[in-house]
Amino acid sequence: MDYTSLIEKAEKTHQLTKSEIVALLNNQTCQEELIAAADRVRAAFVGDDIHLRGLVEFSNICKQNCMYCGLRRDNKKVERYRLSTEEILDFAQKAKEYGYKTVVMQSGEDMDFTVDKLTDILRQVKALGLAITLSIGEKTREEYAAYKEAGADRYLLRIETTDKALYEELNPGMSFENRVRCLKDLKELGFEVGTGCLVGLPKQTVESLADDILFFKSIDADMIGIGPFIPNGDTPLKDAEGGTFPMSLRFIAVLRLLMPDINIPATTAMETLDKNARIIALQAGANVVMPNVTEGDYRRKYALYPGKICINDTPAKCWGCIGGKIAGIGRKISQGQGFREIKQ
Ligand code: SAH
Ligand code: SF4
Repeated sequence: MDYTSLIEKAEKTHQLTKSEIVALLNNQTCQEELIAAADRVRAAFVGDDIHLRGLVEFSNICKQNCMYCGLRRDNKKVERYRLSTEEILDFAQKAKEYGYKTVVMQSGEDMDFTVDKLTDILRQVKALGLAITLSIGEKTREEYAAYKEAGADRYLLRIETTDKALYEELNPGMSFENRVRCLKDLKELGFEVGTGCLVGLPKQTVESLADDILFFKSIDADMIGIGPFIPNGDTPLKDAEGGTFPMSLRFIAVLRLLMPDINIPATTAMETLDKNARIIALQAGANVVMPNVTEGDYRRKYALYPGKICINDTPAKCWGCIGGKIAGIGRKISQGQGFREIKQ
């Protein structure tokens, strides 16, 4: 296999077959070439701006029982919390003051946030002039429509894996079809749709990761967030091996080559495996960072996986830290809300 011509093909045509994607994901020798090509495509299609989204982790209470996640309902070790409406608004207001143009409101599937309660919060956050991304799991089409109407612009729901059997094994009580239905509804309702997957799940193959990329392309996702699976000691997958940073990085690079105009975050989970991961990812195709704007002890308690970075930092420190790193690689913080601009 001639990897250089494969990379060239991807850079020019943004199309690869499944076996070609597998070849690039598996190849470790030409990783630098792959990353350089992804960085060129990123510069050409989405430019040098980096969009910062302020993440508010507003509840770690969850009715689901995903095998990989520390917030799963059977985990009795995590200290549960739920922010009040006032606290959420306070964090959103502060995010705006730091300079964020978007807040990402994320939580477990917490049934206390009824449609009425959440739409009320969304309206108030929207009145601050912020773009809103919601990431609160599977809901009915009607619920999604109500959130949209109340001001949510984007929705983040990872497919986690497109291997249906593996998905249903890892997400007991949930169905792959319903996950896909959610993504379809969100797209039809006019949300910018973010999805993504975990890299390095038990039993996940490189072929299956290639299927994930083809799936993202087929649904024309606007944003793809991927991260390595990091085994959590308080879950049934505590002894699993987990994902690696190099595979996650190659995944991001291939994704950028094949979906040149989407938004791709450099995720926090990657930084758990390599202390410079986000800056490396931003030079391998990524163009978004989602710093945490939740304050105090909530950061530690929102324990999806162990080793989460910056749990003792303040939002002000995170803004300064990431801003400095971005300037250090000659890029700049976007002044816009960072919607996807589809380029033909
Ligand atoms: N409840 C919502 C949002 C919170 S979970 C939802 O599930 O969509 C956000 C993401 O955390 C999940 O999509 C999953 O991909 C990621 N995650 C959960 N456990 C993880 C782990 N052990 N390692 C890495 N990422 C994890
Ligand atoms: Fe709940 Fe999301 Fe964790 Fe699943 S991944 S247990 S839905 S917080």
